[in-house]
Amino acid sequence: MEPRPQDLSRPPSRMDPFEDTLRRLREAFASGRTRPAEFRAAQLEGLGRFLRDNRQLLLDALAQDLHKSTFEAEVSEIAISQSEVDLALRNLQAWMEDERVSKNLATQLDSAFIRKEPFGVALIIAPWNYPLNLTLVPLVGAIAAGNCVVLKPSEISKSIEKVLAEVLPRYLDQGCFAVVLGGPAETAQLLEQRFDHIFFTGSPSVGKIVMAAAAKHLTPVTLELGGKNPCYVDDDCDPQTVANRVAWFRYFNAGQTCVAPDYVLCSPETRERLLPALQNAIARFYGDDPQRSPNLGRIINQKHFKRLQGLLGCGRVAIGGQSDESERYIAPTVLVDVQETEPVMQEEIFGPILPLVSVRSLDDAIDFINRREKPLALYAFSNSTQVVQRVLAQTSSGGFCGNDGFMHMTLASLPFGGVGRCPRPALLPCLRVAQCHLTSFLPRTA
Ligand code: NAD
Repeated sequence: MEPRPQDLSRPPSRMDPFEDTLRRLREAFASGRTRPAEFRAAQLEGLGRFLRDNRQLLLDALAQDLHKSTFEAEVSEIAISQSEVDLALRNLQAWMEDERVSKNLATQLDSAFIRKEPFGVALIIAPWNYPLNLTLVPLVGAIAAGNCVVLKPSEISKSIEKVLAEVLPRYLDQGCFAVVLGGPAETAQLLEQRFDHIFFTGSPSVGKIVMAAAAKHLTPVTLELGGKNPCYVDDDCDPQTVANRVAWFRYFNAGQTCVAPDYVLCSPETRERLLPALQNAIARFYGDDPQRSPNLGRIINQKHFKRLQGLLGCGRVAIGGQSDESERYIAPTVLVDVQETEPVMQEEIFGPILPLVSVRSLDDAIDFINRREKPLALYAFSNSTQVVQRVLAQTSSGGFCGNDGFMHMTLASLPFGGVGRCPRPALLPCLRVAQCHLTSFLPRTA
């Protein structure tokens, strides 16, 4: 018999013992309820309805948490989640089918195939910077693969956390999917439980905690971490085109994007051509006073605001540099003359600050990149195909995009995956995970 659905209007309590929740989900998984395609499709359709019915509520919550403009919220949170739902619904049957494999002489009379099995009960831990997208996109994969799921949204993006806790469960089978709330202490407690897969998106330091906790149960993990993403700008380029693209992707979501270009590597001559072009781009996107622009986000909380304010003291401010604590506002900023040893070049910036670092040559830039941790994303801008191809060939990174910002993230045809900060064993069998290499080339004019 199916377990009775819970009171759908009751938000999950911070005091809910995780054991009870997990027992409920394990029993549901063991009953086989999540396996039929019809069940998976019904849950995915529920997710789609959640996004459509609550569009305004979600836009308001994203504006409250991050001052996200409607455009940014639509593009990077709601539409992306909806397309993931649609992608899974379109492909569900095909993903679920057995995959025939070739046979050898000894198995000619046998049938050999790969069957896609759900893991069981998966835990999804999400960060605050794209608090809807980074919670729902992994959830879509987990549902499509036939898993039960415990969702742990970020406690820092409070308005979205509230919507996910109070509204989302009404659209899902609560016997199989649970939203649990909490910060580091509660998540540490949650991690003591045994899961069948953990999908974590967040910082490298917490990634280590998650991996260590998972190791105690030999639970497979998918870690989506952060880091510094270099952006090489060649002398042979159109500075305004490059500045438009770099500024757009650096200052999107007030720079709080894991794959944003973190710093630019270029020659001193190109730096001088880029600076006025960046100034132009910033004025074009956010007006003469970016603080009054409806299109520029705010820093998520006081702690991150203070951290970023500290980084404004590195090198020399060439553009921007203003901040206002009462609004957690940091102006789109460009720094020059920064030293490799300064904090802005040591930690992931995760804010609207872009250092321009001088290199003597392409070789010097490649060497600079290769002396550091493998980046999550890497960018190269040049009118020369050979230059872009050389950066691609002689470096290693989780994702690569030639002559653009993180456009590679928008392509469902590119798998998630990569190296270094995004070590991803194939997650839930049906989940589209990953980012790969992509090159597109610049027109010579903006
Ligand atoms: P975070 O690591 O602080 O928190 C992520 C999640 O872990 C949250 O749900 C939080 O409650 C939980 N958590 C925090 N401290 C914990 C602890 N001590 N023990 C157990 N759980 C804990 O990350 P964040 O500040 O929310 O997000 C920013 C980071 O996420 C950046 O480093 C960014 O690059 C990274 N990120 C990566 C991707 C990606 O796809 N690779 C996407 C977005 C963000």
